[in-house]
Amino acid sequence: MKKTALITGILGQDGPYLAQFLLEKGYKVYGLMRRYSNPNYGNLEYLGITKDIDFVEGDLTDESSLYTIIKNVRPQEVYNLGAQSFVGQSWEISKLTTEVNALGVLYLLNAIKQFSPTSKFYQASTSEIFGNSNVDGFLDENSPFKPRSPYGIAKLYAYWMTINFRESYGMFTCNGILFNHESPLRGIQFVTRKITDAVARIKLGLQDKLYLGTLDTKRDWGFAGDYVEAMYLMLQQENPDDYVVASGSTHSVRDFVDAAFNVVGISDWENYVAIDPQHKRPAEVFHLQGNAKKAEETLNWKPRVTFEELVTMMVEADLKRLQPQVK
Ligand code: NAP
Ligand code: GDP
Repeated sequence: MKKTALITGILGQDGPYLAQFLLEKGYKVYGLMRRYSNPNYGNLEYLGITKDIDFVEGDLTDESSLYTIIKNVRPQEVYNLGAQSFVGQSWEISKLTTEVNALGVLYLLNAIKQFSPTSKFYQASTSEIFGNSNVDGFLDENSPFKPRSPYGIAKLYAYWMTINFRESYGMFTCNGILFNHESPLRGIQFVTRKITDAVARIKLGLQDKLYLGTLDTKRDWGFAGDYVEAMYLMLQQENPDDYVVASGSTHSVRDFVDAAFNVVGISDWENYVAIDPQHKRPAEVFHLQGNAKKAEETLNWKPRVTFEELVTMMVEADLKRLQPQVK
């Protein structure tokens, strides 16, 4: 019998990488997607796995759809990756962000408790829950939570609700506190993809300038393809627990810009980059750097792709994607 997994957020960045990983392990993969007139299968297509997914229609804000899906599918593993995942917009759409990222998790946990209580549950938690609790050092599972955005606050609710179902009902629920992870499949709004796309366009003569909100903030950037393995490993343990997943290195946005322009051989990149306050956030998280010792020791997980390899992979993918537009 094939193992079964349900992935929410199947059309996003992490969903396709996780689906590919589980398919290779012989899983039957169900993907929850919202109703669309024209769904965008681009990221699944990129990995060549669209036809291998069993799609189920639902929405994290619609409790009854989750009840029906869990009742019908009864997956052995549920990976909740669906979210309004963009911090930058979470102030403008704070209610929606709360409904999807906080209440959606409660609805899904309730559905599992009622119709498939032995399903193991993974919650996509985030380093954003730490906020500025340590502005120049490492963050781990014991660091204080001080979220700075509606996104981080909603994710903190989901973090505690995931623990609460574990403690109250003995369910197998885990939080993966993942630091930023990127890839050629990353949404274009996020700073890394925005940079690699712009660098490729500038190199190909399709764009003149890149406008950013700041060059100073620091993130612990890893490769999404490495991080989905940690999600899987959490659900294979004897006992449910919460884990930080990070590369351990931190770089500024400036470092990322510099590395990306370096890939295309442009050294005077200051001429192509400008600050636009429109992209500044009402409250900023200045420095994120994770200590993934627990994941390394317990899950035997380690990231493989380095910062430089990640930047190169993303710039090269954008060059390839944009090449056909060059006249
Ligand atoms: P992503 O590319 O933005 O994908 C999020 C997915 O959630 C999208 O497929 C989206 O569907 C889906 N979604 C949004 N609202 C929904 C709703 N109401 N019901 C059902 N699905 C909904 O995000 P990602 O980078 O893959 O991240 C995966 C998860 O990890 C997210 O929960 C994110 O917050 C969390 N996380 C990400 C990072 C990171 O650095 N990437 C770090 C820490 C935590 P559509 O395709 O229909 O829009
Ligand atoms: P986040 O860490 O989940 O918020 O991921 P983002 O990629 O959206 O942002 C990472 C960092 O880059 C944050 O500190 C942003 O404020 C900073 N940043 C600077 N300029 C920009 C920009 O133009 N767009 C985005 N998305 N982030 C920017």
